[in-house]
Amino acid sequence: MFSYRHAFHAGNHADVLKHTTLIALMKYLTQKDTALTVIDTHAGAGLYRLDGDYTETSGEAQEGIFRLLSEPKAAAAPVKKAPAATKTAAAGGAKPAAAPGWAPALQDYIDLLRGLNPQFAETGDIAHLKIYPGSPFIEQQFLSGRDKLKLFELHPTDFKSLSGNIEQLGVGRQVAVSREDGFEALKTFLPPPARRAMVLCDPSYEMKSDYGRVATCMADAVKRFATGTYVVWYPIIPRPEAHDLPRKLKTLAVKAGRSWLNAALTVKSSKLTTDTTGEVIRPGLPASGMFVINPPHTLKAELQAALPQMVALLGQDRNAGFTLEHGG
Ligand code: SAM
Repeated sequence: MFSYRHAFHAGNHADVLKHTTLIALMKYLTQKDTALTVIDTHAGAGLYRLDGDYTETSGEAQEGIFRLLSEPKAAAAPVKKAPAATKTAAAGGAKPAAAPGWAPALQDYIDLLRGLNPQFAETGDIAHLKIYPGSPFIEQQFLSGRDKLKLFELHPTDFKSLSGNIEQLGVGRQVAVSREDGFEALKTFLPPPARRAMVLCDPSYEMKSDYGRVATCMADAVKRFATGTYVVWYPIIPRPEAHDLPRKLKTLAVKAGRSWLNAALTVKSSKLTTDTTGEVIRPGLPASGMFVINPPHTLKAELQAALPQMVALLGQDRNAGFTLEHGG
C-alpha cells in the first residue's frame, strides 16, 4: 500500500503552481454553455487542515502558501514583463520589476482561499488560514449545474476523507467519487457525452512506474478524445524518468497535432548540502511543472504574469526561476 499522503504536502510551492494553473483552466473552461466533464485521476482527500499534524510536521506549506502570503508588499510590487520569446527564465536571484498587485491568476487563487477561510478573508492575517483546498474542491467551485466531476482516489484513508468532504457539499450526483485506479478509469469516460472534458493527472510518483503510466495514459486519452484539455503535474528532480516525462508529453502532443504548454517553477537548488556536523541535508522538492495539452489560448498570458510573482515570493536561492514554453 502507498505511504504517500498529500496532507504532508498541501499548500507547498508545487500546490501553488498546480492550483493557480488549475483555477485559470477551470475559470476559462466553465465559461462556455456546453457541459464540461472534469476528471481528476488522482484526487487526494479534497480538503486539508493547514494547522493539522501532517502540515505542521512537514513544514511544506511554510515554503508555499504561507510564504506567498507573508510578504504582501512584495506581491503588491513588481511583476517582470516577460520577453516575447516562448521560453523565459528568471534566475540568478533577480527580483521581478514592475506592475502593481497580484497577477489575476494568483488573485483568483487567493480569493478562493479567502472563500474557504472567512476569518483570514476578514483580517488578512495568515494565522487564520487554516483550510486548504485540494484539486477536487477547486474544480467543484467552478462547476455549473450541467457540468460533472469524476474523482478517483485509491488510498483507503484519503478515499474516506474525500467521500466525506464531498458529501458535505450536498451536490448530489454532480460529483462522483470512486476508489479506483485513475489511470485505468479514465478510459471509460472518454470521449465525454458533450465532447468537452478537462483531465487532471496528478499522481504522487511514489512508484517509478507512475512516470511511464502518465505518458501511456495521456497518449491513450488523446487517441480516444483528441480535443480534451489534459493537465499533468510532474516533479522536477534528478531522476531520468522525471526528466523524460515532459519531453514525452511534448512529443505526444506534437505527433497528435495538438497545442501544448509547459510551465515550470523552481524555488531552490536541487543540490545536497551538509550541516555543521557533516550530516547530508536533502533539499526537498526543488521544482515542479505543469504540462497542458490543448491549453486555452488565455493560459500562457495568465501564467506569464503569475510565474514571476511566484519566483519573487517563493524563491529561496539564486536558482529560483521559471520557464514557460508552448507550441502547436
Ligand atoms: N490532486 C490532488 C490535489 O491537487 O489536491 C493531490 C493528489 S496526490 C499528489 C496523489 C494522490 O493519488 C494520493 O492521494 C494517492 O493516494 C493517490 N493515488 C496513487 N495512485 C493512484 C491511482 N493509481 N489511482 C488513483 N489514485 C491514486
